[in-house]
Amino acid sequence: MTKENDEKDGGMTRRQFIGAAAVTAASVAMGGLGTNASAADTLTLPALPYPANALEPLITANTIGFHYGKHHKAYVDNIVKLTAGTALAGQSLEKIFIATAGVADKAAIFNNSAQAWNHAFYWNSLRPKGGGAPSDALKKAIDASFGSLDACKAELTTAATSQFGSGWAWLVKAGDKLKVVKTANADNPLTQGLHPLLTLDVWEHAYYLDYQNRRADYVAAILTDLVNWEFAAANLANA
Ligand code: MN
Repeated sequence: MTKENDEKDGGMTRRQFIGAAAVTAASVAMGGLGTNASAADTLTLPALPYPANALEPLITANTIGFHYGKHHKAYVDNIVKLTAGTALAGQSLEKIFIATAGVADKAAIFNNSAQAWNHAFYWNSLRPKGGGAPSDALKKAIDASFGSLDACKAELTTAATSQFGSGWAWLVKAGDKLKVVKTANADNPLTQGLHPLLTLDVWEHAYYLDYQNRRADYVAAILTDLVNWEFAAANLANA
């Protein structure tokens, strides 16, 4: 997908999206998609998969400007600095945060590498004109695990709105089933052997400029109009 195409229509055809998802997955080795991560998962800030204003009015370019341009960039800059000259310098983000999870004197390395990964995954969990219904394979998996799409969305809403303080809500593959989990701060379900399919960032910086304290409205906006089921389906197919 060219930048020009992306900016021209602000959305993506299915074919464009699958291409973008493949490139992004290879770039940051997300959710089990990065089968050749060693070549592509470098510690760089990945391009946003859509223009900064593409999610307006639900998530504004102002929010994206700070969230992607400042917060996400800072996590990437920090992990580059923290790993420079160490054995971790050439590793993928995923390898770095799995290797350092729960290691007290590696907390800064864990936090910045996991946050860099989480944010790349989050941008792809959203899309302009998202929402709607998942494709057949994902729909079947959701129905089998939750009973219905609405029940799945209700669990995601509960996880996202009940996470106390900063963190993330996730749809994951756990063994043969799908599950909703929440994690605090930088934590990522991959450290528990779960495969992320999509995520919602519920740190205040993700919604405060647009929604102030109304986290539930931000979560509802995502699950109704922005959630990228195609990304989740692609992750499920590769989990
Ligand atoms: Mn964030």
